[in-house]
Amino acid sequence: MDLLSDRTRLIAAATRRGEGRRPVNPPIERASTMLSDAVGDMRDASLGPLYGIDGTASQDGLRRAISDLEGAESCWLAPSGLAAVTLPLLALTKPGDEILTTDAVYGPVRRFLTRYMAARGVTARFHPAEASAEEVAALVSDATRLMLIEAPGSLTMEMIDVPLLAEAARARGVWTVMDNTWAAGLAFKPLAHGVDVSVQALTKYAGGHSDLMLGAVSASDPALVKAIAETYEDVGLCVSPDDAWLALRGLRTLPLRYAEQQRSMMQVATWLADQAEVSRVLHPALPGDPGHLLWSRDFTGAASLFGVVMQGGDTQTAHAFLDALSLFGLGYSWGGFESLITYETPQMAFRVAPPTLEGPLLRLHIGLESPSELIADLEIGLAAWRTAVG
Ligand SMILES: *Cc1c(COP(=O)(O)O)cnc(C)c1O
Repeated sequence: MDLLSDRTRLIAAATRRGEGRRPVNPPIERASTMLSDAVGDMRDASLGPLYGIDGTASQDGLRRAISDLEGAESCWLAPSGLAAVTLPLLALTKPGDEILTTDAVYGPVRRFLTRYMAARGVTARFHPAEASAEEVAALVSDATRLMLIEAPGSLTMEMIDVPLLAEAARARGVWTVMDNTWAAGLAFKPLAHGVDVSVQALTKYAGGHSDLMLGAVSASDPALVKAIAETYEDVGLCVSPDDAWLALRGLRTLPLRYAEQQRSMMQVATWLADQAEVSRVLHPALPGDPGHLLWSRDFTGAASLFGVVMQGGDTQTAHAFLDALSLFGLGYSWGGFESLITYETPQMAFRVAPPTLEGPLLRLHIGLESPSELIADLEIGLAAWRTAVG
């Protein structure tokens, strides 16, 4: 399987020989109790899961598919992407430790760090979103235990040199965890670039249809695998067989959806960047973006998610723009088949160092609709923006 493309490998796992007559897809096995034939069998884990929390066929299939995609020895499924990020942070830190992360970290993770973790003696330090790997490495202190990497950063999409940062962290005995949701395990392989733990919100691209919440944690280092597996067991995490089944189904078409949405995103983002009402489009696949060189060097694809900084205007004009659209859904999350748009300026207030923006910050997710029709929708929105600006 190692030599196969992701596109083939995600399907070849379903058609593997030697597993007997069976449906292509694993069954959904709903279970708490698992029965054994003899009392002596009840302690034998090699006969299969002993309890529903161990997971059944669909969770197993999904874990194997994600491990394969991330190039990891082990994978754990979490009930949300957020739980997938918090699991390794809980597993790998203790009171007195410090976690170093970007000021552009996913918002709910910032809340977890500043509320839950801080109250339990684990401190967080937020480095400037645009800091280089060398600058971040220079911030490592004796207390730093773990670096949480998010590249591109949430909303403002800053890139960082991940291999260099991972190497610097390793040299200082600091674990690295990367939120790999944007690359969906396809466009970037954190473990192959020296990162210790890769985390994804499967809610986004893997699910792909905005109908489930799920996360995955992948790692290979034996000490890490032990620590994460024990915490997973200790806190009682598990996911439903139905959700795992849906995510596994989503994975079969993930590479095609991801590539198609990338193509449409490039059309829409390039068009938007040329509009007078737009100051900047934030996406590392766009030539001229500050993260473009790093993205070109390390990534093999791009998510259809980007930021837009408007030129002038305010909350009212931003609302007028969004309210005038009819194809773009107004809603959070991304990675599904549908295009979405959100107004994100209020999120900047949570940052240690909010960026200087020329106008409202919007976030767009491009789905599987026709890009020219999405552009026509945005034209209507921009007309409403101009009217609102007056
Ligand atoms: C959405 C998201 C998460 C959390 O995923 P949920 O399944 O919504 O909890 C984590 N990280 C990033 C970068 C995300 O966009």
